Amino acid sequence: MTSQRTRDRLIQRLKDQGISNELVLDVMRHVPRHLFVDEALSHRAYEDTALPIGYSQTISQPFIVAFMTQALLEDGPVNSVLEIGTGCGYQTAVLANLFPQVYSVERIEALHKQAKQRLAELELFNIQLRHTDGNGGWPNPSYQFDRIIMTAACTEVPEVLVQQLLPGGVMVFPFDDGHDQTLMKITKTEQGMVEEAMIKVSFVPLLPGLG
Ligand code: SAH
Repeated sequence: MTSQRTRDRLIQRLKDQGISNELVLDVMRHVPRHLFVDEALSHRAYEDTALPIGYSQTISQPFIVAFMTQALLEDGPVNSVLEIGTGCGYQTAVLANLFPQVYSVERIEALHKQAKQRLAELELFNIQLRHTDGNGGWPNPSYQFDRIIMTAACTEVPEVLVQQLLPGGVMVFPFDDGHDQTLMKITKTEQGMVEEAMIKVSFVPLLPGLG
């Protein structure tokens, strides 16, 4: 159930759904998603579906991970990316195979610790994780990033995240308008923020404070 053939089938499905970035497809073919879910669910790890990871949270659907990662790479190769919502760490692992520097924050301590252990076991050493509220951005306020990816839905973009985006930087995030959620891409230009609505999505909410 976790064989290369099962994984290849998932990659074919992602291609069929329009994921065309070969780098993203190649990384997702190799990152072992089954190691990021509970053993009892590992036989479902290569289905294109979100799965529970405890604490009322989920591991994102592979298509969404691929789509968001592809959006981060659209405007050329970059150095650093900040993720808000580490969760199980799967998206973090995908990013770490594509970006030189990956930073990720999680508000639930148990998930943060578990992700830290898993990512260390995979020998991904270009990742920095923090147990903190992502509404405050990366805890060192002087840091700025080429890309920011939020994996929980916000009702307002935290201003600090806009500040922590480098000029020319791109942020991809699910936005909840009270009725439904839309995946948004914003680009920080000299003229201001340029917004693009991408697809309808369904994410857990971005919550305040620590869990
Ligand atoms: N990136 C994950 C998705 C995890 S689900 C993956 O690869 O599957 C979203 C995560 O965002 C949850 O773990 C949730 O606890 C976390 N989260 C929600 N609000 C947050 C906040 N304010 N700061 C940091 N993490 C937050």
